Parts: sequence; C-alpha cells; structure tokens
Amino acid sequence: MINTRVVRSLAKPWKPARELERTPSALGLGQVPTSIEPDAVVRSVCGFCSTGCSLDVHLRDGEAINITPSPGYPVNTGMACPKGWEGLAPLDAPDRATAPMLRGADGVLKEVSWAEALRYFVDQTKAVQATHGPEAMAFLSTGQIPTEEMAMLGALTKFGMGITHGDGNTRQCMATSVVAYKESFGFDAPPYTYADFEASDVIVLVGSNLAIAHPIMWERVASNPNDPTLIVVDPRCTETAAAATHHLALEPASDLELLYGLAKLLIDKGAVDRTFVDEHTSDYEAFAEHVARFPVEAVAERTGVNEEQLDAVADAITAGRNVSFWWTMGVNQSHQGVRTAQAIINLALMTGNIGRPGTGANSITGQCNAMGSRLFSNTTGLLGGHDFANPDHRKRVAEVLAVDESTIPHTASWSYDRIMAGIDEGTIKGLWVIATNTAHSWIDQNGGNELLDKLDFLVVQDMYHSTETAAAADLVLPAAGWGEKDGTFINSERRIGHVTKVRQAPGQALADFWIFKSVADAWGCGEMFAAWETPEHTFALLQELSAGQPCDFAGIEGYEMLDSVGGVQWPYPSTTEQPDDSAERRLFSDGRFFTPDGRAAFIFDSPQPVAEEIDEQFPLVLLTGRGSAADWHTRTRTEKSKVLSSMTAKVNYVEVHPDDVARYELASSRQARLVSRRGAITVDVIETGTVQPGQVFVNMHFADTNQLTFPAFDPYSRQPAYKYCAVRIEPVVTSP
Ligand code: SF4
Repeated sequence: MINTRVVRSLAKPWKPARELERTPSALGLGQVPTSIEPDAVVRSVCGFCSTGCSLDVHLRDGEAINITPSPGYPVNTGMACPKGWEGLAPLDAPDRATAPMLRGADGVLKEVSWAEALRYFVDQTKAVQATHGPEAMAFLSTGQIPTEEMAMLGALTKFGMGITHGDGNTRQCMATSVVAYKESFGFDAPPYTYADFEASDVIVLVGSNLAIAHPIMWERVASNPNDPTLIVVDPRCTETAAAATHHLALEPASDLELLYGLAKLLIDKGAVDRTFVDEHTSDYEAFAEHVARFPVEAVAERTGVNEEQLDAVADAITAGRNVSFWWTMGVNQSHQGVRTAQAIINLALMTGNIGRPGTGANSITGQCNAMGSRLFSNTTGLLGGHDFANPDHRKRVAEVLAVDESTIPHTASWSYDRIMAGIDEGTIKGLWVIATNTAHSWIDQNGGNELLDKLDFLVVQDMYHSTETAAAADLVLPAAGWGEKDGTFINSERRIGHVTKVRQAPGQALADFWIFKSVADAWGCGEMFAAWETPEHTFALLQELSAGQPCDFAGIEGYEMLDSVGGVQWPYPSTTEQPDDSAERRLFSDGRFFTPDGRAAFIFDSPQPVAEEIDEQFPLVLLTGRGSAADWHTRTRTEKSKVLSSMTAKVNYVEVHPDDVARYELASSRQARLVSRRGAITVDVIETGTVQPGQVFVNMHFADTNQLTFPAFDPYSRQPAYKYCAVRIEPVVTSP
C-alpha cells in the first residue's frame, strides 16, 4: 500500500436552475476544497499524456507552488517528464478565458455573464435544431477532460439535448486501436501493464518513438534487467530507433507487408505456439494461408528492409521467451491502421505471447484520458463500453441513469471526418467544440478551416480564448484546467487514477463538469442529472454502468481508494477478493477473450495503396510526428511554460536527407518552401540522416504543418492518416 495523503472531492452540490441568474462561481463551485491543508502536498495524476504519472502538488498558504513526481506510484516510480514538472505553468497564462465571451455585431468577442452566455447557447442550439433538424448540431470533444465530465457531456447531448452526432479528438489518435481490439479480442482491451516493459526479453516497437512521446515508459524499458533485444520499426531513425538492437527502417506505409512477411518467416521457423493457437484463437489456418503470399524476397523489395535484417528479427522473436509488441501513432495514423494493428496482434497470438508477464499486443494510448473517452464519451460506443445497437445495453444504461430509454439512439455517432463532411454538405450547422483545437490539428487544415467558416454557430469551451478554434467562435465558454477540477483519468494500461483540484480556476472559469450542469439546467433537463451531484457521485454512477462489462470497476471504493492504492486497473469488479493490493493487473492470463466464443480472432486483409502517391510534381513523402518530450499537441498549454518553450523548436523545420539537400539545392539552416497539393509552408532546413532519401519529416506541433497533410482515413476506424502525403521542396531565394 502506498502511504499517500487522502484528499476527497468536496465540490458543493449543484443548485437548481432558479439560481441561474447568479454566476456559477458565485455559487461557490469554483472554490478550492476546504479540506486541503494550506501547506499540504496533494497527489494527482498528470494531465498531459496517457502514461498517467502521479504528481505531488505542493501547496504553500493554500497556493499551488510546485510539482514533484510522486514516489512509489506504480506507474512512474518517482519520475516525471518535463511536461509533468511544468504542469502548473499553463494555468497562469494571460490568455486564460476568465469569462464567457460572445461575438458582437462588430465581430469582436466581448465578455458577457454566464446567464447570458447560457441563454445564447441554448437559444442558438435550439434554433439550429428547429430549422435544420436535431442532426444539425454536433459536438467535438477530447481525451483531455476527466471521465466524469465526458460521460456527462455524452449523456447531456445524446439523452437531454437530442444531439445525434458527436466525436472526440481521440479519433485522431486511438480510433484504430479501438476497432482493432474490438474485432480481435471482442472488446477494446489493451491487455498489458507497464511492468511488462521490464519483464520482456524482446521488445518490438512499431511506429512508436517512445523515448520522447512516452518518456516514462521509455524509462521502464531502460529499467528492464533482462538486457532485452529492442526491435524498432520506423521509417525514421528516431531517438528510440537510435537505441535499437534492430532498426527496421522500412519504406513509409509498408508496415502491413513487413508484418505479414515476419509472420510467414515465423511460421517457416516453427515459432508458432500451436497449443495456444488451437485452444485460444480462431481463423489461424486462413491467416497462415494469407501470409504465405508474403515471401521474404518480395517483402524485402517492397519495404526496403533487407532479407538478413528480416531474418534476424524473426530469429530474435522466435528465441524470445517473453516478447511484447507495442504500437502507437505510426500505426494508428495510417491509411490501413486497423489491419496493421491487427497484424501486430496476430504476431503476439501466433507465438503465444499474450497473458503472461513481459508479453502482449499492446497499443500505447496518446492523451491522458483517451481510455476514459473510449469507454465513456457516449459517441461511437454507448456509456460504459456498451453498444448503441444492443437493446439490452440501452435498457441497462437507461435504468442506471434513470433516463427515458427512448432518448437513447440506436446507432453510434458520426465520426469526426463525417461530421466535417456534414458541415460541408450543409447537414451540420452548429458545432460545440470542447477542449480541442480543430483549426490547428485537423488534417488538411485549410480545407478544415473553410468548413468551420461555413457553420451558423460555433461555440468553443476551452481554458484559453486564444486558440485557433476559439478565434473563429461565436461564443467562448471559459473552462477550468488540470489542477482546477476533480475527476478520474484512465491511462494506457487501464489504470484509473484520481485527478485532484488544487487551485481555483481564474475569474468565472468553471470545471467542464459544472458547465455541462449549467447547460443542462438552462436547456431544461437539469433533473436528469440530479444524481450527478459532484464528480465523485458521478464516478459511482460510472462504476454501476461498468458492472458486468469487461471494463467492470464497480469494486473501487471511491476516490479515497484510488488515492490510497496508487490507482486501480480495470477490471476490478465488486466480487474482487479483498484485500487486493496488486499494483499490476494484465488481461487474458486464462487465455479467454471477450469474443462470443472466447477466442481471439486472426484478422487480415490485402495491403492497399496509399491515397496520395508521390509523382514527378510531388516526389517526396512527408512524414509528421512529435517534436520533443516538452511538446504537447497544438502547444496551447506547453507554450505557456518558459521551461518547456526553451526545450522546443521556435520555428517550424523540415528534416531532409543530405542527398535531397544536394538534389534540391537546399542548404542546412536556410529556409525552404514545402509544398503539397493543399498548401505551402516555409520552414528551416535541417540536413540529417534521420530520414531516408525521398522522405522529409515535419514537426506536428506547429500550426502550419497540417496545411500540407492529405485527408485520407483508415476505412474501418476513420482515423486520419497524418503520416503520409506527397510534397515537393524548393529553396527560398532571398534577395541580396
Ligand atoms: Fe505527464 Fe506523460 Fe510526462 Fe508522465 S510522461 S509526466 S503522464 S506528460
């Protein structure tokens, strides 16, 4: 047991709608919980990436003044990356949204009261729905807010406001893994625990620059006492690839052929665990027949990885006792991401590397609460990992939440790209954007921003009034940030951790939870949320919703237990034998999966060409990715920290191979124009061997990068394929 200071959520109960004329902050909803001692050290979970590190926030005279990594927490074991250490810096930025802002007839955003903002929001939304139908209002949410908040948003919009379509920015990072797991395992169930990084003797990373994208997980790899063989599959020589035993620098978008070729080599080498395959999987024979079409010679030619390297990697996997396979955005953000993820899953299944320490087919999540979003956003799946199309599921959710079953849709929401297409075709007229920055991060940015301009009504709910998306909004609702609210996150290894309020949000900014409550009251459906009194009351409802599902965490005894045991990984049903102090819990140790027959399915397909091939006019492949460990997404928070800003690039740059620097008459450290069919940007040239000839790499955190990207999507997950498009590069000639 970890000896932590227990801090309970003491947000005050919601006051009914008649109080609306008063500002919510006047109701005391923005106050710091009174139970925290003024000089306490308060434990919380980091609000950036999905690792879910525990951080100790140090208070002096009631003010949060510093952060240190929590010692002893099973995730980060006393470590944090620069973003975690700097978690407080984004909260004091001068561009915080501190009051609701409404765009006037003069085109300028002006501060208004909460009452006015909520009335406007409700009137405009109802007008859009009355004129164009309920489908005409949609929302785009995030993996950055606590599970309690996203569940309330999902319930409010779908069951209370009659909004049909909503999606999240998790579509941009994790949708591929969700679909891959659901089809292969029967449920969206990453099977691992972080201790597996330390228990493997072979670690295979596909499309993952773990060293900078998930630095604490990388530290766990470094702590592995087995001197593991590290295999990295990535077109670039990333910081992670540079440390690999085997770096397979494959041609971009050739992952699927490479993985099928490896599967064939493993079959040829007799590496198949027949007992596991026979007892716990289905469709193996058809899979073996399929991969027979990928002989090593052909795979070497297609991928650019030579036969000796492929053979050596197959030998290493064959010899490994505990082999773990991991992937992240290089796989998820590709044109055939689902089948690629399943090709990785197939390698783990065929070699019996699942359900034991140091094994697994393991998707590494992106955002701090992407897993919470996957289970509770109520967009593509019904609350609690349920299915909109299943009448028993709808009945169960209606009973637990005491809502009218007829208000629950029978189908999932449109995906993010479909919502954007809906704006284009005129079926979506209003959009509510919560804690995400569509105008910066959506693929093919110029095309996307033209769509935002087409909306009749755009409302942005965010910590900052300065984001690219807020700049286009008709209404801005000021939201509290991490540290200013209570709730829970679910990390990559399914661990539910408590996020603690340690300071008051500035001005009239409110936790999203209380904004959603206010909207519900203003809409006239506030009674629906009578039981959702506080985030912790809501957590209890979510536990009830999870009961009986693979993600069952009904056995957790409130936030207090999360604080005292270092978070809890699902499943943790109420039948869990007590006490259960196990800090690490992995899935499938009994070989039973969540499919109807209990078997994991081998799923495979023919590789497909990319949507935009290179040609004479655009002869280079554009790769995009993370810049540094101090960067986060669209930099709305990290740019507020002087420390983090000092660790990141100041201007956008392109990595170019020396051969291409010569071929295109470029010069290192000089500017170049990078041009795609969708836009052109000016960047600094970095001459480097990290990329191969014919490829260039650009940092995804800069606002102009997505002017170049091509709007292709995985056909099953609808996740955008950010990692491949065709560009050309030209020197910028400056006059003498
Ligand atoms: Fe936060 Fe992720 Fe860094 Fe941990 S690794 S401190 S969770 S950003």
